[in-house]
Amino acid sequence: MATTQLKTPTIPITEIEQSAFCTTDEELASRSLADEFAVGVRWQKLPIEYMRMPPDELDARITESRSKLAERAVVLGHHYQRDEVIKFADFQGDSFKLSQLAASQEDAEFIVFCGVHFMAETADILSAPRQRVILPNLTAGCSMADMAQIDDVLDCWDDLTYVLGDHGGAVPITYMNSTADIKALCGRGDGIVCTSSNAPATFRWAFERGARVLFLPDQHLGRNTGLDMGIDLDDMILWNPFKELGGNTEQDLIDAKVILWQGHCSVHTRFTVDQIAQARAKLPEVNVLVHPECTMEVVQAADFNGSTEYIRKTIAEAPKGSAWAVGTEISLVNRLAAENPDKLVFCLDSVICPCSTMYRIHPAYVCWVLDGLNEGVVVNRIQVPEDTAREASVALDRMLSVV
Ligand code: SF4
Repeated sequence: MATTQLKTPTIPITEIEQSAFCTTDEELASRSLADEFAVGVRWQKLPIEYMRMPPDELDARITESRSKLAERAVVLGHHYQRDEVIKFADFQGDSFKLSQLAASQEDAEFIVFCGVHFMAETADILSAPRQRVILPNLTAGCSMADMAQIDDVLDCWDDLTYVLGDHGGAVPITYMNSTADIKALCGRGDGIVCTSSNAPATFRWAFERGARVLFLPDQHLGRNTGLDMGIDLDDMILWNPFKELGGNTEQDLIDAKVILWQGHCSVHTRFTVDQIAQARAKLPEVNVLVHPECTMEVVQAADFNGSTEYIRKTIAEAPKGSAWAVGTEISLVNRLAAENPDKLVFCLDSVICPCSTMYRIHPAYVCWVLDGLNEGVVVNRIQVPEDTAREASVALDRMLSVV
């Protein structure tokens, strides 16, 4: 019996909040946390002294607190973090690079992860048991990861096992941007974790082991990767968790090569083919470079596409005087523009929209958790249950073996 029940669709809170900090003004400077709360966001509450602290005072206090901790702590910062936070990172990177760094920082007692929840979970799985991973704001999730809730994914997996049992099954691949529970399901289900850099390699790995792939949770990365590998669009179907059998017939599932979970990134799906046309109309020599979490239409209309690290490297190595319209998160695009003053680098979307969940790591939270560590209080520890961590690390180890 198929187990998927009809469910009422819910929009993740992180997605509702997406436009809260969008602006057409170039300025994206942090204000006091109390001022940022005024737009009605639902972030973690913290002591009033931190809420009201102005940005310059926070900056000085984080500097002092960070230096007192010295080598007891390592601060990791994702490329999409605000400038006022990333400046305190000992290491910067994308989720994959930061996970590897977390695993290699064996001397640090505390890993303060300025990123989002799934990244801190991965850091906890990969770091040594004596190390403690801290996420400065516990509400810093990821709208894409929120779109694949473990109960829905387990229902889907049961359905696929039932329908495809005699037809070669499906190999689960989950993008790094997913919860530890889903990585664990991939570990015990003979599947693998992928990043935006190694997604094609994980597809090849999966097709050596099964007849089809279940790709979670980003339909766009899955579709773009499938197309790159020559898989026909008609052989890739969507799984809508709110419909019976994901909105498919049993025969659809049997005929499919790739089953794409219906999730997306609320930042990267803002980019459009029209924006690309406008950029080219204004600047015919412009190079359009986008992340593969963008839609298929945008990726196909762009000149280049690749992971965050690929975007950074491509612009760093581009000739002087070249122009780049970039389709990725605005904090990173602004930083690339500042780091490459000999090139013209700008965001494809003229409305400035940070990733709303990355933006939840306000400097006040960083200050609060660092002060706590200096006082012997560990707040906001992220700890993945042992069984989940063990199964998830199987899928993560497979990922490392195909990079
Ligand atoms: S940019 Fe998209 S995928 Fe990355 S953390 Fe933000 S919502 Fe999640």
